[in-house]
Amino acid sequence: MRKFILTIDQGTTSSRVTVYNNRFNVVDTIKKEFTQFFPNDGWVEHNALEIWNDVKALISKILKKNKLKGSQILSIGITNQRETTVLWDKITGKPIYNAIVWQDRRTTGICSALKKKMLVSKIQKITGLIIDPYFSATKIKWILTNAKNAKKLLKKNNLLFGTIDTWLLWNLTKGKSHLTDITNASRTMLFDSKKEKWSKELLSVLKIPSKILPKVVENTFDFGETNLFGETIKIGGMAGDQQAATIGQACFHSGQSKSTYGTGCFLLMNIGSQFKLSKNRLLTTVAYKIGTKKMYCYEGSIFVAGSAIQWLRDKLLFFKNAKETEKLYSKANINEKLIIVPALTGLGAPHWKPNARGIIIGITRNTSIPDMVKATIDSITFQTYDLVSAMEKDSASNIKEMRVDGGMVTNNNFIQSLSNTLQKKIIKPKNIETTSLGVAYLAALSCGLLKNTSAITSLWESSKIFKPKIKKSLMTNKINEWQKIVSILTKNYP
Ligand code: ADP
Repeated sequence: MRKFILTIDQGTTSSRVTVYNNRFNVVDTIKKEFTQFFPNDGWVEHNALEIWNDVKALISKILKKNKLKGSQILSIGITNQRETTVLWDKITGKPIYNAIVWQDRRTTGICSALKKKMLVSKIQKITGLIIDPYFSATKIKWILTNAKNAKKLLKKNNLLFGTIDTWLLWNLTKGKSHLTDITNASRTMLFDSKKEKWSKELLSVLKIPSKILPKVVENTFDFGETNLFGETIKIGGMAGDQQAATIGQACFHSGQSKSTYGTGCFLLMNIGSQFKLSKNRLLTTVAYKIGTKKMYCYEGSIFVAGSAIQWLRDKLLFFKNAKETEKLYSKANINEKLIIVPALTGLGAPHWKPNARGIIIGITRNTSIPDMVKATIDSITFQTYDLVSAMEKDSASNIKEMRVDGGMVTNNNFIQSLSNTLQKKIIKPKNIETTSLGVAYLAALSCGLLKNTSAITSLWESSKIFKPKIKKSLMTNKINEWQKIVSILTKNYP
């Protein structure tokens, strides 16, 4: 009997496969890290074939380990690192260049040219996005211009583009399905989120041929089936990782928000069914489309969150394991006035300064490793504050509470600091793997195991609530100091 859901969570540094039972308890989860390539300053690449081979092997392994047959899997859900761009030859199935990762900054020049052409507000109106190398469009353009076989394959109609969702789906279905879902499409900077169509105008500006693009569908859909694992299994759910986490956190109503703290931090706030543009340099993104119901969200992306902890660990050698930062934080001298802006790979929302680099200020004879750890962790809460303020201005309402998830939220000192800085209630859910859970719910909706989003709301449970422990007036001083330093920094980088 089929009674399990299988999810693929293809992240920036690792791929994870999870099996859930029909009550959404995790039966098993396995993961594999894969190679990161940094061929130049600011360049980040992945080998898309390595990713696919890992995912295929993980699925076989988890089925074997748990003595499950393909026939027992009701449906597969796919969630993925967004924006990361693959172009491949549809005859050989081989990518024509390494996947260019969302963090990659090589297309800063193409973005500057778009800005010079006065396309900032046009692009925002069509896609909801701010021009930045972060999104897929300029990465596609770069591969089309620089990969050896691009032109030849284009001429023969043998070239395909996809973000990682599309790439995995195409391989799972042995080339039958060339589809993406609306949340991933909305991160390409080529998709008209209101009309739900690829924008002819933007394709023409960037000279990207529409024939290489996948068809865009909603998040619960009959995406195709795979027969690579014995019996045929349907693929029924798909969403970009941050939107999947929003679904996993059951943020289905306007005003609800979640923040995920992994490599980067991504704060999404549901803004309802109307496409609204931010006046404070946030992104407007499709949150999900389930059946005919489409919801939008504002999104603020911080490029460096958990990766700042990795930097303290791997480059400054302050500790061996990220877990140690919780204790080190408690040992910091609260009178130190150290400020760290960890713009290690530029600043994301609301500043959008891809060239900015970090700063440490206020070092004294007493500054210690715990102080550096505390200042780094607090910086992530200040960056979140800047996003929350922008969101509150845009939506003309107050965010009452925030649901959090991701690897960093195991650190209770971090969450307490977040609650102090924001002066808001912060809620940790029972299951912090909300990305994979979100897409398990989508797959479950498509096979009828779940009826509607209200059923997901009933499944969501909180595990711990953090409330502010420091007075607002004290925090305001610290936030002012932070904002003063950030504004000096951003002025230095045009
Ligand atoms: P991703 O999905 O982006 O790969 P995860 O959600 O797995 O990331 O989170 C991993 C990140 O969280 C790493 O960057 C790591 O430095 C950070 N991290 C993990 N545990 C802790 C901790 N206890 N305190 C602070 N940061 C942590």
